[in-house]
Amino acid sequence: MISPEIERLIQILARMPGLGPRSARRMVLHLLRRREQALVPLTKALQEAQEKIVTCSLCHSIDTCNPCSICRDAGRDDTLLIVVEHVSDIWALERSQAIKGRYHVLGGVLSALDGVGPEQLAISSLLTRAAELSVREVLLALNATIDGQTTAHYLTTRLSSLPVKVTRLAHGVPVGGELDYLDEGTLSAAIRSRTVL
Ligand SMILES: [Zn+2]
Repeated sequence: MISPEIERLIQILARMPGLGPRSARRMVLHLLRRREQALVPLTKALQEAQEKIVTCSLCHSIDTCNPCSICRDAGRDDTLLIVVEHVSDIWALERSQAIKGRYHVLGGVLSALDGVGPEQLAISSLLTRAAELSVREVLLALNATIDGQTTAHYLTTRLSSLPVKVTRLAHGVPVGGELDYLDEGTLSAAIRSRTVL
């Protein structure tokens, strides 16, 4: 019924994070119906991304240049190295505009279940960068998941021989959040991380 070309397109899109076969079919129909407005610009953007985007050899982020624009930025605080799981975490932290350090992308977190060990992550390059003279603080900005916290604990041990302060993001009440709606884990983390006003 459906041509193999269209079926292949649906299958590729259905494997994308957050999409399934149903949304992939809708997307393909939309792209084919709106060829000029949707399909052509998407094809061009994908082609450009494939040709121009590279991984930064220092921080393992992605950009059109290597070293990436953040690693080249002279206005960054060289004393602060922020460790994240994925590139999307850099984007989130940059959107907050709350911090101007350097970054290091691990490429995931340790996970016994998924068979991810230290050698699968960018840990040895992190230790090399953290040992640089300028670095004073390593901020472990990892997700507040069990694997994220296991990884933070592992990294704290590995970094303990270096003369750097190791910090992590606070866990607790989200901005605009109401106590009554929080789960017990979040609330007890917020109590443990309470600060003096
Ligand atoms: Zn970089």
